[in-house]
Amino acid sequence: MINELLPPKRILMGPGPSDVHPHVLKAMSTPLVGHLDPAFLTIMDETMELLRQVYQTKNKATMAMSGTGSAGMETVFANLLEPGDQALIGVNGLFGQRMADVAERCGAKVIQVQAPWGEIIQPQQIKEVLSQHKQIKLVAIVHAETSTGVCQPLREISSIAHDHGALFVCDMVTSLGGCPTEIDSIGVDAAYSGTQKCLSAPPGLSPVTFGSRALEAMDKRNTKVQSWYLDLSMIQAYWSEASERFYHHTAPITMIYSLREALRLIADEGIDHVHARHALYGGALQAGLEAMGLKLLVEPAHRLPQLTCVYIPEGVDDLAVRQRLLHKYSLEIGGGLGVFKGKVWRIGLMGYNARQENVTYLLAALEDVLREENGRIQEGAALAAAGQWLKKEAACR
Ligand SMILES: *Cc1c(COP(=O)(O)O)cnc(C)c1O
Repeated sequence: MINELLPPKRILMGPGPSDVHPHVLKAMSTPLVGHLDPAFLTIMDETMELLRQVYQTKNKATMAMSGTGSAGMETVFANLLEPGDQALIGVNGLFGQRMADVAERCGAKVIQVQAPWGEIIQPQQIKEVLSQHKQIKLVAIVHAETSTGVCQPLREISSIAHDHGALFVCDMVTSLGGCPTEIDSIGVDAAYSGTQKCLSAPPGLSPVTFGSRALEAMDKRNTKVQSWYLDLSMIQAYWSEASERFYHHTAPITMIYSLREALRLIADEGIDHVHARHALYGGALQAGLEAMGLKLLVEPAHRLPQLTCVYIPEGVDDLAVRQRLLHKYSLEIGGGLGVFKGKVWRIGLMGYNARQENVTYLLAALEDVLREENGRIQEGAALAAAGQWLKKEAACR
């Protein structure tokens, strides 16, 4: 006999998935309708409208791909690149590396512009490469690099790319719903995201948005998009606002319910308020960690509020701490990736979790576990520092 499914109740404060909002879970237990039911088509229209609001764009081609964030990555590169095209990719972490890999698999000639993990890509680096290679079709960069906690400034790189006639593409998997994405204002031509980071829905959908320049580039293709499943021209016929919609593949109905509810909650709170809430509690968490005597990876000007990388203190066992947090507090944080494996922890404060109680819980639990694991830390200072930070912020508002 196998018992009824009863997973443990965790608090997910790693790099994603993050905790799902209870209203989203509730929406997911509502009845299924057919994927061409008029009621469902209305739900899709509403989802698209909400997605535009949260992405901060008027792009008509804004929809959810079936699959996780990486499916969105594949969608963008498979639709915009043809074999032989040149693409410039900024690589300062794991997800930049993945973009380069995906673009190469599309047959593109990839030129990487690198920065050390934990630092931003400098606009000047992009400018130099673009002036040496006149044929570059697309410049891609990760907005919120979840492997390091770096927030990449986009505006200057966007105008440099456009000055050279290239498309500007962004990975917004961890930024959407956590910090401003400003697609139209910055001039991002195509972007993709995921549902399980700051949107507080489960993994399974990848919201994408394509602007007019990107759609033009797709119209000018000489070859078919290699992937049938991710060919945007066909997906668009299903997600369009036209009365006649064509079956492409069966939409994951329940996941679209979850996305609609997650976006509705964000729109209801107000997108600016949601961003400010992340900045507020992310800052409080970081102040608390530093007061504990821990060192943060990223310099203050480029820190993401929703994902913080903190160095593991000398002599402390990475896995022992994370296991103890999980067993004693049912609290999940992430380990380091790539060059930072075993060197940092990654702490997420995403979406629904960007709240006072999560800040307090994490700081208290981590302090307790570090004490048990003989980490040399400043005891009893973290919560006061987080409180001080919030008080100071409140006074500025
Ligand atoms: C999580 C993540 C991805 C990949 O998304 P999956 O949902 O794991 O496929 C891509 N880019 C960034 C920046 C991410 O944080």
